[in-house]
Amino acid sequence: MKLKVLNSDPQSMRFLLEETEPAYANALRRVLVSDVPKMAIEDVEFHLGPIRADDGKEYESVSPLFDEIISHRLGLVPIPTDLGIYNRREDCPTCHGEGCPNCTIIYSVNKRGPSVVTSGDLEPIGDTKLRPSDLKIPIVKLGDGQAMLVYATAILGTGKDHAKWQATHGVGYRYYPLLKAGSKALDPLDPAVPFF
Ligand SMILES: [Zn+2]
Repeated sequence: MKLKVLNSDPQSMRFLLEETEPAYANALRRVLVSDVPKMAIEDVEFHLGPIRADDGKEYESVSPLFDEIISHRLGLVPIPTDLGIYNRREDCPTCHGEGCPNCTIIYSVNKRGPSVVTSGDLEPIGDTKLRPSDLKIPIVKLGDGQAMLVYATAILGTGKDHAKWQATHGVGYRYYPLLKAGSKALDPLDPAVPFF
């Protein structure tokens, strides 16, 4: 099987497979969807009770959504993943599943209303490079006097376990066309040929 990358950016990739069969292209698609590991938030710990701000104002640690819904939404936030660093927690040779910087990222969210909590409020404890790449994903809208103080733990997983660990989406393949105009063969990759 030959693989040639046609274009690649942080959000998408298009490549050409040659000397293969659709079954292999589909096997590759399935692996990309369910077997490529990535980090995602798995545990969320909510602070309960009143939160006193620096200015002396007291906030209630409540929000319009159930904690379970907020946890689910935090789980779906894409977390940057360097597979050269992270191990699955249960296979981590450093901590043997206890949790350490080689298998776990801890984030905190500390926000007071009225405001909208977004993915940009996830502050990594440690390296600031671990902030989510998309900072504008809304999580919950806090009203006046409401506040949120949570600690969220991200670990490595795959799409087989839960869709939040799915590293790719919209993966598909199609046959490579052979185009002919009269006796002239056209290259579908030529930008002048309006096919792709
Ligand atoms: Zn570890």
